[in-house]
Amino acid sequence: MSAFEEVNYYFRKAARVMDLSAAVEKMLVTPFREVKVDVSIALDNGQLGTFIGYRIQHDKTRGPMKGGLRFHPSVDLAEAQALASLMTWKTAVVNLPYGGAKGGIAVDPESLTPRELERLTRRFVQQIHDIIGPQQDIPAPDVNTNPQIMAWIMDEYSKFHGFSPAVVTGKPVELFGSKGREEATGRGVVWALEEYLADAGLGEVRGKRFAVQGFGNVGSWACRFLHERGGRVVAIGDARGAIGHREGIDIPTLVEHVAKTRSVAGFPGAQGISNEGVLLADVDVLVPAALGGVITEANAKDIRARIVLEAANAPTTPGADDILEGRGVTVLPDIFVNAGGVTVSYFEWAQNIQQFSWEEEKVNAELHRHMREAYATLARVVKSRKVSFRTAAFIVAIGRVGRATVLRGV
Ligand code: GLU
Repeated sequence: MSAFEEVNYYFRKAARVMDLSAAVEKMLVTPFREVKVDVSIALDNGQLGTFIGYRIQHDKTRGPMKGGLRFHPSVDLAEAQALASLMTWKTAVVNLPYGGAKGGIAVDPESLTPRELERLTRRFVQQIHDIIGPQQDIPAPDVNTNPQIMAWIMDEYSKFHGFSPAVVTGKPVELFGSKGREEATGRGVVWALEEYLADAGLGEVRGKRFAVQGFGNVGSWACRFLHERGGRVVAIGDARGAIGHREGIDIPTLVEHVAKTRSVAGFPGAQGISNEGVLLADVDVLVPAALGGVITEANAKDIRARIVLEAANAPTTPGADDILEGRGVTVLPDIFVNAGGVTVSYFEWAQNIQQFSWEEEKVNAELHRHMREAYATLARVVKSRKVSFRTAAFIVAIGRVGRATVLRGV
């Protein structure tokens, strides 16, 4: 299955429970618009570099389309379609007035100098500026993109359309970004878990053991919030290596190490372990927080965690999802767990449109409310329909998008 087929497999599983007709299913999974562009730039050595960029706009029934930009060699049409459709379902799960989109460039940003990265970003905006916009499609950070890149997007788009901070979210706070956006996804991940633990009578984060795959924006903030609450993060991996410590890794010191060396590898306060060792660690909660497709049929039966907290997008393949469900492992799904990022993106966009700025306490309180309400809705569906959290999330999302579609008229 391609990444897009995998998302649609989950969609269909929920659609069957809802008795959706095949025609409606087909309409809801089909992307609204798919754009593929040539992003050619002059490299610093005078040579020409040609890269391929994508923006997939999946659905705009519930509002302007929303979703990140990923700069990674794995970016292709199927991955962008998958991630764009996940944004449609994610914004619906947390009930934001948005549709879904996603895009990016097939590139390893580490192979570029900072000036080349800026040229690449600006060139991409030149190629897609007429299909994005504050009321049309609003990009944001994703894998390997950051507030500086969002600032360049805002600046380049504004050259064509006039001053437009609301065209992109995840901007630096000094340039119309929102307080709390940087930490929002990680914060939401931990709140999602806390809602589930309380509901299931499983106690608190304190004393529980965690393995986290990924130490970028999402993984590192999730680790900090878990550590703050007394959780023990005993295994962490990133693209360059993995580390483990029986009693729990000292996260604040690790953050300093990563700021200097750009990897968790070689952290003096822990032992080196294999990347697969992170996924299979003896923990209560496994947190995939990097790329998609890492929990597969090959490793699902050996995962020892009782809870999988999907901080990454699409980390679990359908085959693995079935195995985990069969083994009684609770999978809390991406379109709920990592929705804190896009939720605070929504607050940022709303602040930009009103030319007003919120205090961080207000951002966090509103984020907490959205995560709590989303959990309560999912938990009701889990109980009433006797389905997994993932199927419940799709049922809620499909219901909201489907009703909006019918009300607007096809
Ligand atoms: N890239 C993030 C996601 O996958 C954030 C998207 C946004 O803020 O628009 O949800």
